[in-house]
Amino acid sequence: MTKTYRDLMTEARQLVPEWTPDDVRQRTSNGGGFRLIDVREKEEYREGHLPGAVSVPRGFLDMRIEEAVPDKSTPIVLYCAGGTRSMLAGRTLRELGYTNVVSMAGGFGAWKGAGHPWVADRQFSADQLTRYSRHFILPEVGEAGQAKLLDAKVLLIGAGGLGSPSAYYLAAAGVGTLGIVDMDVVDMSNLQRQILHSNDRVGMPKVESARQTLTALNPDIKVIGYQERVTSENIMQLIRDYDVIVDGCDNFPTRYLVNDACVMANKPNVHGSIFQFEGQATVFYPGKGPCYRCLFPEPPPPGAAPSCQEAGVLGVLPGLVGCVQALETIKVILGIGKPLIGRMVYFDTLSMELRIHKLRKDPQCPVCGEHPTVTQLIDYEEFCGLRVPGHTDAAHA
Ligand SMILES: [Zn+2]
Repeated sequence: MTKTYRDLMTEARQLVPEWTPDDVRQRTSNGGGFRLIDVREKEEYREGHLPGAVSVPRGFLDMRIEEAVPDKSTPIVLYCAGGTRSMLAGRTLRELGYTNVVSMAGGFGAWKGAGHPWVADRQFSADQLTRYSRHFILPEVGEAGQAKLLDAKVLLIGAGGLGSPSAYYLAAAGVGTLGIVDMDVVDMSNLQRQILHSNDRVGMPKVESARQTLTALNPDIKVIGYQERVTSENIMQLIRDYDVIVDGCDNFPTRYLVNDACVMANKPNVHGSIFQFEGQATVFYPGKGPCYRCLFPEPPPPGAAPSCQEAGVLGVLPGLVGCVQALETIKVILGIGKPLIGRMVYFDTLSMELRIHKLRKDPQCPVCGEHPTVTQLIDYEEFCGLRVPGHTDAAHA
């Protein structure tokens, strides 16, 4: 004889005791000691759930419960919307061998009705669910990680060789706000490597060209252009609202300026630099590792280290280094993996050798050391010996 729904519920009630929302709340404040499982559909969970609840939709219980709760003697509290699905789910768990299963009477509706706290995950649109689906599948990113990316604000110094691939991939990954500082206009000689720009945009401000390319790739993000030179006067204001700074400049005054400002403002600075066939990248994270000045306290003498404009650069190289910068930025935002803090990755494209050097923080560093002597921004042109009348900075890499 086929069991009716009523029979199933009667059986379930005999096997699965109920707690009221008040019971659950009280036991939670007393330290819990149980796993809270939300057995509703994923969409229902997303719209609001009990704090600390794990989502295992009822249809997936057999498949997923062992991963969520490996020990079958662990006390489990199940809830659904109204208290019925969780009761039936409790019966299933008892059949699967779980010995200590409770269902919350009245479900999430009764919990909310009693005025107990609940949380809502970020609501993703249908487009976002599709666009970021490969991120959602990765447990290390998932919906929580994608929400972090969408909430993150990254400032790119330069929309040139390094800024192009960095910004391109950060936009694709759904980093919600990208600021780009660059005073230049697109020049034909940029197009050999600066992939944000195109032939029909020669003469257009790079920040505008960048905005057009990035929003065409991903209209889900905001791109803010600052068509200005980054200086000691404006940098603190520029970086203030951003979480991570990506340094894609190719001149020493700007590099020291960005470094010092990031140390002073306590912002991670994802560094990249390129020269002819060689490139390097690292993450300068105040308080967690060295800064640029720990490695290079003094700039090279003027003229000793020529710019890309003077010395040339192989077309694909900035793509390699800029992509590492984008990758490291995403790791910093998500808090996953092992960012390149205190390590420098170094590429030699001709031999295709890749090396990683350990970097040490210098206790005597004038900016981030124990007794810093540089406590406010200085004149970086002068510091780099470039204070020559009529001199302008080299274009961004
Ligand atoms: Zn330092």
